[in-house]
Amino acid sequence: MISPIRAEVSAAALRHNLARIREEAAGSRVMAVVKANAYGHGLVEVARVLDEADAFGVARLSEALALRSSGIRQRIVLLEGLFDCGQIIEAAARELDLVVHCEEQLAQLASCTPPRPFDVWLKVNTGMNRLGFRPEQVASALGRLDALGPRVLRELRVMTHFSAADEADSPATQQQIAAFARLAAQRSWQRSLCNSAGVFACPEAHAEWVRPGLSLYGVSP
Ligand SMILES: *Cc1c(COP(=O)(O)O)cnc(C)c1O
Repeated sequence: MISPIRAEVSAAALRHNLARIREEAAGSRVMAVVKANAYGHGLVEVARVLDEADAFGVARLSEALALRSSGIRQRIVLLEGLFDCGQIIEAAARELDLVVHCEEQLAQLASCTPPRPFDVWLKVNTGMNRLGFRPEQVASALGRLDALGPRVLRELRVMTHFSAADEADSPATQQQIAAFARLAAQRSWQRSLCNSAGVFACPEAHAEWVRPGLSLYGVSP
């Protein structure tokens, strides 16, 4: 016999969790991370419920396109960026934001002619060591981004990702915050550091944008 398993997702609980995050990071805008099918909860359904979010973060172009097709008007950020010119052009046409985290993406962006300019988030690796330009590479990346000109680049923003903000008292997080502050001070631009753990553990790092995922779905980091 098949045992039917159902998961019921509470819209009220999702909204409540977003409200708690807002309360915690009252001076910041919230980019609700809905990658991986909203952590398995249903991409479009969750985004519709979280219509108070200031932006949505996804990993894949297909997810961003599904959100746009379902009428989501907020800013949508492609958290891992794109590597393909056709996709870059499509992302521009659908008014998506791009993260740029490596040389290959810079080169690809420079070789495409998107139909409208992007808001680009430069991703800096301050210690997560997964994606992002290392601090010593940032000056060169900035030079190349500036060289794209206003037909490709509308606004440049900056972000990083914590490696251990969920470990209380980890010195790594404080080192990341300090390294990010040194880089971010180079310009006046919108900044984003905090995932869920950062939202609750690092109030000094809330900056202009926080990027909660897990905590939206009720998971305590
Ligand atoms: C997944 C992800 C987040 C959300 O992290 P949580 O720990 O789930 O809150 C934030 N930023 C980026 C870049 C991500 O990839």
